[in-house]
Parts: sequence; C-alpha cells; structure tokens
Amino acid sequence: MIQTREILNAVNFIFKKNLPSFMSDKYCDVKGCQDLSFKTVPSNLAKKAFTFDDSKTKVHLCKVHYKEYKKKTKQDREVDRMDWV
Ligand SMILES: [Zn+2]
Repeated sequence: MIQTREILNAVNFIFKKNLPSFMSDKYCDVKGCQDLSFKTVPSNLAKKAFTFDDSKTKVHLCKVHYKEYKKKTKQDREVDRMDWV
C-alpha cells in the first residue's frame, strides 16, 4: 500500500509540474465527456466545434477535444487572419 501511494505521489508531482490544469478538478465541458480539463478556450470559438449547455465565456476542454477544437477552428482562424490583410 505504501508503494502504491508513493507511485501516486510521484505521478501527481509530474502532472502538477507539466499540466497545471490537470490538478484543477475541472472537467471537459463537452456534453457527455467526463475527462479532466486540459485547456481553457473562449466559448465563442469552441461553440463552432462543439455544443455546450450553458453560456459561458470560457469552456474547458480535455486533451482529445482540444485537439479536435484546434482542427475544427483552424479554418475560422485562417479566415480571421485573412480579414486582417
Ligand atoms: Zn472532452
């Protein structure tokens, strides 16, 4: 039991160091997803990729959904950039 606890402590330490949001007890806001939050993104952009229940200004995404979010909002972000030219 002590060994297990030591391993968990080591894992917690690594995650605390590398992924601060991992320890924040926040969960992915995508409907039906129960993974821990990896990144927080503006909801107006996130809503282009996913559907959210309530109107927040920022939403939490897990690692998998963040990747999907980046993929799905890539075009929009490129269009935004073109508007500047
Ligand atoms: Zn998710």
